[in-house]
Amino acid sequence: MTKRTLETLRNIGVIAHIDAGKTTVTERMLYLSGASHKVGQVDKGTTITDDDPEEADRGITIYSACVTFDWNKSHVNLLDTPGHVDFTAEVERCLRVLDGAVVVFSAREGVEAQSETVWRQANKYGVPRIAFINKLDREGAGFERVFNELNRRLGATPVAISIPYGQGPEHVENPFRGIIDLIEMKLLTFDKESLGKQFEVSEIPEEMLDEAQVWRETMIEKLYEYSNEMMELALQEEPIPIPLIRKVLREATLAMQIQPLLCGSALHGIGVQTVLNAVEHYLPSPLDRPAVKGFNPFQKDKKTGEPAIEERGPNNEDPFCALVFKIIPERTADNYWVRVYSGELKQNSRVSNPGKELKENVSQLWQLRASKKNPQGQIEKVGAGDIVCLIGPRHSITGDTLCDPKHPIVLEAIEFPKTVISMAIEPENTAERKKLGEMLEMLKRQDPTFQAVENEETGQTLISGMGELHLDIIKNRLLRDFKLNVKVHKPRVSYRETVSKATETVGECHRIVGGAQLFAKVKLRIEPNTESDKPVTLINACPPESLSADLVTAVMEQLKAKGEGGGLSSFPLSKLKVTFLGGETREEGSNEMAFSIAASEAFEHALRAAGPVLLEPVMKLQITTPEDYYGDFVNDIQKRRGMISETEQRGEVTVIEAHVPLVELFGYSDSMRSLSQGRGGASMQPHEYQPAPPEVGREYGITS
Ligand code: GDP
Repeated sequence: MTKRTLETLRNIGVIAHIDAGKTTVTERMLYLSGASHKVGQVDKGTTITDDDPEEADRGITIYSACVTFDWNKSHVNLLDTPGHVDFTAEVERCLRVLDGAVVVFSAREGVEAQSETVWRQANKYGVPRIAFINKLDREGAGFERVFNELNRRLGATPVAISIPYGQGPEHVENPFRGIIDLIEMKLLTFDKESLGKQFEVSEIPEEMLDEAQVWRETMIEKLYEYSNEMMELALQEEPIPIPLIRKVLREATLAMQIQPLLCGSALHGIGVQTVLNAVEHYLPSPLDRPAVKGFNPFQKDKKTGEPAIEERGPNNEDPFCALVFKIIPERTADNYWVRVYSGELKQNSRVSNPGKELKENVSQLWQLRASKKNPQGQIEKVGAGDIVCLIGPRHSITGDTLCDPKHPIVLEAIEFPKTVISMAIEPENTAERKKLGEMLEMLKRQDPTFQAVENEETGQTLISGMGELHLDIIKNRLLRDFKLNVKVHKPRVSYRETVSKATETVGECHRIVGGAQLFAKVKLRIEPNTESDKPVTLINACPPESLSADLVTAVMEQLKAKGEGGGLSSFPLSKLKVTFLGGETREEGSNEMAFSIAASEAFEHALRAAGPVLLEPVMKLQITTPEDYYGDFVNDIQKRRGMISETEQRGEVTVIEAHVPLVELFGYSDSMRSLSQGRGGASMQPHEYQPAPPEVGREYGITS
């Protein structure tokens, strides 16, 4: 085996819409690489990557872990990413640390809602991709249809490098039997007995030759755009050497101009070798990725006065830096999964977490090997580009940077979406409260999209997350795994509050405090703000000569606190702009306290006067159903206050896209199944916040 070097490393993830076959593809990859001798089956809950009991129960992948295996001359670190939309943050975290991705699509369902989300996320993080159209053995499979959807729905530039030989079981005279490699122009047929481990290479059958030629021409023509050398050869009508085709495919993939497209059926072991070869040929090594940027919190840039920006290149000579992307709690010590960007780290060393001004010990380094005999391998040191599990750190959390204490750097943080749903939990007694607090702290460290806030008055703790399933899993962990005695309330959506019109108000303070008469007047404008992502934008427009700097600061601090403190409904404020217009003083008694009180009063007046509105989270719902149930789904969506935005016939199925308030979607997966007698599928993701019906507002004290 070749030495594990930067050139031979591939940090990849398999990402997909739920049920497209991500877990099956992953399993087959491990099996083919010789790492696991028994093929796990998702439906039986025996896969290698789904090792959390919660995952095996639900047959979906929730928590990502990293498995390492060898393929030809490459060393592949495979990060397992979740497919369910409630876990988009996990996908984001993985995309942040991997170098390339294999995106799996179902040949039947095609591009689904979640495929669009992950595709956009991968664009955002600049991750080069290859695409794999799976399930070609299934009824209703359509290779060309999905190829076109990739173009049209994702704005992708797929370049097919293999095509199916036959399609679906219904073509009795032409069932799906194998794939045609358009680069080598050969037919590959796979032996079912060995689950595709054995395969045969033969000439393309006569009846497929024309079709294969057309696809090959399409591939070559697309590649001309990226290579003058290829173009010249074509003009001279010279044959194009295979290594040149591969080189151009690689360059264009790394530049994110194209995505090589492959196909097969993971369940039957058809075509997965070609995906692994494509990972080696076309996906980047850490060396192909740009240097990472971060800042040094202890050094100011001379020109800007901001913390100095620093870079770390993918090499062992630069100082060590790594990003924590996952923490798995263990009874003995938490497992910290990190991606190393630069430098080397040895066992028994000390690293720093400059973002939190902490030092951590690293006592051991582990890599999870997908091998039955030696599933975990302890290693002495890890180098740039690799992914490894650290034992020793205790205080760092997901998203933190660990680095060489002599060369502090904080890498760009991972952005996490806001929570849309929450649930109250109440411990039975004080001892339980303490335990609950500790457990929630631990869960928060692992999962940055999960929040928990204790309300001292009611004794309740409000936990918030990304969806019903997310909270359900947390609930199960508390009750089943940690055996806590807590009462769990029904989940409710996280509303927000904003205003409907611009209003100017004045707040005054005429109080007597400690025998002294206080006086202040503060003038504010509050208005809706749809331009900024910030919940509350504060602007100081007070003429500088009218008030002293201390009084202005007192007002701005009070406005900031009020903005963060929640609205009239006590839900968080959102889409709001608050401008401090000016104030009035008197010779005596106009101090900071007076101005704080006046600012607070002005803020509250303004919220009432500006027409408060309660906003509710609206989800983008995508339903895939046989046409027979289309009418029932449409009626049901209307009953749930939903709006249909798109309906499309894709092969055998109808796809409905709608925007539906989250509060109307509780328990939707069950009702969706009974509506379609188990034949439909649905997924949803947060779309936007929209005004809730007035009666909901009134329930929370908002009348406008
Ligand atoms: P994931 O949710 O994306 O991880 O998808 P899974 O790998 O769990 O697969 C979802 C379902 O599709 C399972 O029942 C698999 O057995 C099945 N499946 C996966 N790949 C194929 C395939 O190539 N052909 C067929 N017919 N079924 C498949």
